[in-house]
Amino acid sequence: MAADWTPPPGASHEMVCEAETSSEALFVCMDEACARRVVVGKSRPRLTVIDRGDFSARHVGSLGGVAVDEVSVA
Ligand SMILES: [Zn+2]
Repeated sequence: MAADWTPPPGASHEMVCEAETSSEALFVCMDEACARRVVVGKSRPRLTVIDRGDFSARHVGSLGGVAVDEVSVA
């Protein structure tokens, strides 16, 4: 009976903006073992995952008016 699976206590990774255009920003995870990368749309809510990295971790980051909080984004 393995019906109850409890996620491990979520690690929290910080993402920083590595590059940006007028419409999009590239965020990279600071954790070297993870190296998650996502592109976030500025003008409209949009998130494209380039490298999943450690998707069990919580990734947060911010850039000016753009906030990244992808707790439930796989
Ligand atoms: Zn990470």
